[in-house]
Order: sequence, then structure tokens, then C-alpha cells
Amino acid sequence: MNEFIKERKSYDAYPLSQSSIACALGCERNWFFRYRWHLKPKDREFRKAADLGTIYHLMMKKGPTKLEEVLKWVKDRQAVLMEEVDEFGGYSDEVVKHVNDLTDMYNRAKCMAELFWEKFPRGEDRETLFREQYLEMDDLCGTIDEVEHKISTNTISIRDTKTTTRELKAVVTGYRFGIQARLYRLLVDDWAAKNGHKSPSGFILDVVRMPNIKLCGTDVKKANKLHITPAEAYKMRVLEWYEDNGIAAMNCVAMPFEEPIMTDELDRVLETVRDMANREPDPRNYSRDMSRRCCYKFNKQCPFHSLCDMDISLWPAELHREYTTYEKVEKGVLS
Ligand code: SF4
Repeated sequence: MNEFIKERKSYDAYPLSQSSIACALGCERNWFFRYRWHLKPKDREFRKAADLGTIYHLMMKKGPTKLEEVLKWVKDRQAVLMEEVDEFGGYSDEVVKHVNDLTDMYNRAKCMAELFWEKFPRGEDRETLFREQYLEMDDLCGTIDEVEHKISTNTISIRDTKTTTRELKAVVTGYRFGIQARLYRLLVDDWAAKNGHKSPSGFILDVVRMPNIKLCGTDVKKANKLHITPAEAYKMRVLEWYEDNGIAAMNCVAMPFEEPIMTDELDRVLETVRDMANREPDPRNYSRDMSRRCCYKFNKQCPFHSLCDMDISLWPAELHREYTTYEKVEKGVLS
């Protein structure tokens, strides 16, 4: 048994990203499977929400004049997924559905991006210093959505966009002291020092509430009647949806920094995860979550549940049957 553990390839967990640290704080064993063994279930569920967020972020990065490039990205992704259907026939129905859903996600993201650009046009006083930039500092890393410079006050802010179908408070509660905000602040502070800027003064959080309606035949009919495009008809229906539900399509929340950049609390958290990263890569060195809070989160069973629930002597067969591995973790995020 020990031979099997010893012989299994393990990966270096550094540099530590916010998703890695957040995972480590939830369940040590889950973190071990993801970040030391790079396991993923063969029949992993496709994460619709993640892809919708990815498409929206890409639109924000490219801007209104380069939406064709985002559409190309979506089409390329659809082609890659269809290749996976040939490779892993076992979950092909799910993949085919996801391929179709990607078109819907593109329409929804485009509608929201256009509303965002209309609602929050950037004045001449603000310039974007960078977007979607991967930063590393010592053993930490992260991809920052945007850093913005306010010219009149010579201050910089970290701008983060969240797409959600949940209410605003689900996103902003605890955001400022969460690991993502703390880590991004450290990384941008380091970047600012190296690039001749003052330390960032705070966050600007753009929260985009995604509508739960699709572009469909109703929009095509309306478009024909009004001599507009289906996308324009869809946008009208989306605006009505917000009004009918009494929901703000988007909120822009400013959060100035009030605490020191490094606190004992943050230091302790980083030490905890570094300690985990430095342990011998043996699953028995990483505890399961006995509170079970992480075992069934967001109405989903943890993908490693079957391993946690069986004797380790049975793992070789289970790993072979149900799991595969990632060779590399891109920018700290499991793809
Ligand atoms: S099933 Fe529970 S204990 Fe096991 S890895 Fe997942 S979250 Fe951790």
C-alpha cells in the first residue's frame, strides 16, 4: 500500500493561488487531491457558470470592438469539446448539451457586457493600467481582472468583476477580508512598487447579475416585427426581466482599504497552507473534512467522495476507473 502512494506522481503546490488557498482552508484532503495529485473525475460535470463568467470576462478584456474574437473563442471551445465526445463517449450527452449551452452563454454575456458599457462608461479621468494579468510574488500568484488609475488623484484601484445569479449580498459579504481580496492586494501592491505607482487604495467590485432567460424564438419574432436584430430584442426582454423582478442588473461597489496589507491573521493562513504544501505527499497527512461542510457544497457532492468513503487499499482500482490527472495547473486554476 505504501508503495502505491510512494510511486504515485505528486505535484508541487507552489505558487499558491487564491483558489488553492481557499480550497486548503475548506478541506485538506480535497486540496491534496486537487493540488498535489491533480486529480479530476473522468466524468466531471461541466461548469456552466464558470464558462459564462469566463466568456463575460473575456468580453470585458477585449472591449466592445472585439466581440468577434470572443465569438471565435467560443466556437473554438465548442470544437474542442466535440473532440472530447469522441475521446470519452461516456459523458457525451452532457458535453453536447454544454456545447449548445455555450452559444446561449455567449448571447447572455454579450447582452450584459453591452449593458455594462452603457451604464458605466469610463470617463477621461480613468485609465486602465492592465486587464486580466497574471502576477506572481514570491510563492503567491493570481490573475487580476483590472487595475485602474484615477488621473486626478493619482490613485490606483483593483477592479474585480463578479458574474452571479445570486443576490448582491451573496457576493459582497466578507469580500474585503476574503483570501481573494487580500491576495490580490498583496500582488498589486508588489506590482505597483515595481512599476512606479502608489499602493492600491481599494477595490471596485462590479457585480453583474446574470438573467436566467435565453435568447429564443420569442426574440426572433419580435426582431422581425420591429426590424431589429434578435440580440437587440433579447436585450429588451432582459431589461424587462430586471424590472419585473425588481433587480438591479449591475452594481458597482467601492471598498477602500482600511486594514494593513499584512496582518497576523493573513500571515497565519498563509503559514497553514505553506505547511500543507510542504508535507510529504501522502493522503494520510491530509485530514478529511469531518464537519462535512465541504462534502456537499452548492448542492453538489464533492468529486472525491468515493475515495474518501472507501479503504485506501481499494484506491488503485478506483483511481484507474474514475479519475484522470491534469499535468499542469494553469495560472493556479484547475481547468
Ligand atoms: S468528500 Fe469531503 S472529506 Fe473528502 S475530499 Fe471531499 S470535501 Fe474533503
